[in-house]
Amino acid sequence: MDQPTIYLYNTLNRRREVFKPIKPGEVSMYNCGPTVYFNMHIGNLRAYLVVDVLRRMFEYLGYSVEQVMNFTDVGHLTSDADEGEDKMEKAARRDSKDPWEIAQFYINAVRSDFKDMNYLTPKHWVRATDHIKEMIGLIQKMEQNGFTYKTDCAVYFDVTKYPSYTQLQGGQELEDKKVGVRDEVNVDPQKKHPADFALWMKCVGQHECHIMRWDSPWGAGFPGWHIECSAMGTKYLGDHFDIHTGGEDHISVHHTNERAQNYGAFKKEVVNVWLHNLFLMVDGGKMGKSRGNMYELQDVKEKGFEPLDLRYFFLGAQYRTRQNFTWEVMKAAQIARKNLSKAVIELNAQASDQEGIISERYRSQFIEAVADDLNTPKALSVMWALVKDETLSSADRLATVLDFDRVLGLDLKARLKNIRILTQDEEQKIERLVEARDAARGSKDWTRADDIRGELANMGVEIEDTPDGTVWRLT
Ligand code: AMP
Ligand code: ZN
Repeated sequence: MDQPTIYLYNTLNRRREVFKPIKPGEVSMYNCGPTVYFNMHIGNLRAYLVVDVLRRMFEYLGYSVEQVMNFTDVGHLTSDADEGEDKMEKAARRDSKDPWEIAQFYINAVRSDFKDMNYLTPKHWVRATDHIKEMIGLIQKMEQNGFTYKTDCAVYFDVTKYPSYTQLQGGQELEDKKVGVRDEVNVDPQKKHPADFALWMKCVGQHECHIMRWDSPWGAGFPGWHIECSAMGTKYLGDHFDIHTGGEDHISVHHTNERAQNYGAFKKEVVNVWLHNLFLMVDGGKMGKSRGNMYELQDVKEKGFEPLDLRYFFLGAQYRTRQNFTWEVMKAAQIARKNLSKAVIELNAQASDQEGIISERYRSQFIEAVADDLNTPKALSVMWALVKDETLSSADRLATVLDFDRVLGLDLKARLKNIRILTQDEEQKIERLVEARDAARGSKDWTRADDIRGELANMGVEIEDTPDGTVWRLT
């Protein structure tokens, strides 16, 4: 197949560009991964949906993808800059564990969410703390190239040495403000410019008791947050690679600093395309713990949704728009996905083992949509048009929709094996049993409640008691 033109928006140049891989037929991509101090929220899940669809699109189009994603398990302070406490160590205190246990616990949680969401496992899924040697090596390179300076507390990158430091942020002038002028707590008074950032933090002062620590040429300490991504990216992908992803919050600090480090070490632009997803909002505003709307995948499941309903919901917005999450829209996504499953099952029944042929007409429309800076809502509408197009045989429609699912990742093939379509009568019967069980529980008749649970289980129905009431799903 001729490889079609792919357009991606490159934050570095502030425009949509034709994607040209460094090596023909290959894509090298680094994805900023989660800081493993807490469960991921659904905003993080949106960021990784984008990564997943991007990878799937390239593979669908015949590219091989060398993908690296990190687990940040050290050095990310409570502010994205150099102030505050290490998030890992703070979480360790919160949960009365040590930071290593915290990291392992939440790495497992991330892996489990990825599986639930049907995100492909990155080829290199690597931990920052396994790459301290590489980080030290990179800092030494920058030191030799004259981009760093030392204070009593840290080794810093000197941003004034890199003329295009602010390009990713939009190219504004570097503010010529001295650090001492800012009345922030814990600012290193020896830091020369407010934008200078730590490459290596020494275990002194507020970090004296930092648990995760390593020896280094600059004394015992731990790496700054940004250095890990430069170290792992260039270790696995070399000093020139195609794509680097992350959420929009990473543009102004984390990625700006990472790009500066790359330049400090390699004296060149290492990443070709910086790709950023915009944020997921909830009920029209920012997600926040204090607002009580920072949902995790578990919250979504407890409301009776499957993870793939959330996946379908994410696909409904292009990654460069802010997507708004509400439970109503989730419900609509769930219904749409159910309808899709039903349609696919019907096509399968009608096709009755006939081999279908992929419709080239729809395939080229589908490719045009996804290759247009991942226009997933358009891709979904092409898919629906195909599913409903009765001028094509059921077998051809089935073959084509399953082919598209290699990019959409809705696991439609598995649906064909597992899903049962309930008749209206069956659905009503389940609802009645669930209500009867709720009533039995209300009158503390636990035996009856358990009997009904058993009866539902025999019908292949699983129930869960949540703060919002009982939800049920087919097993
Ligand atoms: P973190 O664990 O904070 O480094 O975040 C993991 C990824 O999720 C990063 O790429 C963030 O930019 C991204 N992210 C954080 N919040 C949101 C949000 N509300 N919507 C979309 N992406 C987000
Ligand atoms: Zn990163």
